[in-house]
Amino acid sequence: MTDSAPRAGSVDTVVLDGLALAQKLRAEMAEEIEKLVAGGGRAPCLAVVRVGDDPASESYIKGKRRAATRIGMASVEHPLPEATTEAELLALIAELNADDGIDGILVQLPVPPQIRPNAVAEAIDPAKDVDGVGPMNAGRLVMGEEGLFACTPLGILEVLDHHQIPVEGAHAVVIGRSMIVGKPISLLLQRRNATVTMCHSRTRDLPALCRSADILVAAVGSPRMVKADWVRSGAAVIDVGVSEVDGELVGDVDFEGVQGIAALVTPHRRGVGPMTITMLLHNTLLAHRARTGA
Ligand code: NAP
Repeated sequence: MTDSAPRAGSVDTVVLDGLALAQKLRAEMAEEIEKLVAGGGRAPCLAVVRVGDDPASESYIKGKRRAATRIGMASVEHPLPEATTEAELLALIAELNADDGIDGILVQLPVPPQIRPNAVAEAIDPAKDVDGVGPMNAGRLVMGEEGLFACTPLGILEVLDHHQIPVEGAHAVVIGRSMIVGKPISLLLQRRNATVTMCHSRTRDLPALCRSADILVAAVGSPRMVKADWVRSGAAVIDVGVSEVDGELVGDVDFEGVQGIAALVTPHRRGVGPMTITMLLHNTLLAHRARTGA
C-alpha cells in the first residue's frame, strides 16, 4: 500500500456492467432450477411481505418477483395494509416460517413506524432469512461460519471477484456502518483477509482515509460525496449509495471525476443494484437446497 496521489488520466478505468454480470449469474441459477425441477423436485419459493403502499417498495418488489420468475423460481406476495400491527405481521411471519413450501422470507423495508424492524428480523426463521437481516445470520457472519448474508455485500464480493480485484492483504475502506451494507461488507472483506477501515458520520479526515484505500466502498446515501481527489490511483471504487437530486438518481461517488483514476468503478445505474437482487435469488436457492437437501 503506497500513498500515491491520484493522477487523473493515467488509469484505464473499467466501469462495471452490473446488469450483464447479474444476467450471467441468473442464467446459471436458471439452469440449476431447471435441473432441480426436471429431477422431480419443486422450484424454490420466495415470499415477499409488504406493509403499506410505498410506491418505491412496490416497484422494488415487482423487480424482485420478475427476476425470480425469469429464472424459474416461484414467488408469493403478501401485501398488508399500512395500519397492520406488529403482532399481525409477526403472526404472518410465523405462518410463513411453518410453511414447508416457502424457502425464503423477505419483509420489504421500510415498515410503518408502529412496527420495529428488529422485531421483524428476529422473527424470521434463520433458515429462511434470505435477506440476511436476522441476528442468527449476523452472528454467524461475525463468527466466521456459513449462513445467509446480506445481499448487497454478497453482490459486491461477486463484482470484485469478477474483475479479479485482489482482496487478500488489500486495504478496504468502507463508508457506512448499517446492518444491511456497511457492517456485513466490512466483515466479509475481513474474512477474505482484507484490512478493513470502517468509517461513519463521526470519522475524522475521511478524505485522507479514503485516499489510502485499495478498495473503497461508499454506502452512505450522500450525493457525490466521494470526490475524485479522495480516490487513489488504481483503486476499486464500489458505489452503493442511491439519492435523488432534482428528480435524478445519483450515487455517493463523483462518477465522472474518478474516470482515469480508479481501476474499477460501479455506476449508480446498472451497478450494484442488479447484483443485490441476484444475490437475493441466490440466497433463496441456497436456502431451498439446505432445507430440502436438493
Ligand atoms: P443507512 O442505514 O442510512 O447508513 C448510512 C451510513 O452512512 C451510516 O452508517 C452513517 O453513519 C454514514 N454516514 C452518513 N453521513 C456520513 C458522512 N457525512 N460521512 C461518513 N459517513 C456518513 O444507509 P444504508 O441502508 O446502508 O444505505 C446506504 C445507501 O446505499 C443508501 O443510499 C441506500 O439507498 C443505498 N443502497 C443501495 C442498495 C442497492 O442495491 N443499490 C442496497 C442497499 C442500500 P452513522 O452510522 O454515524 O450515522
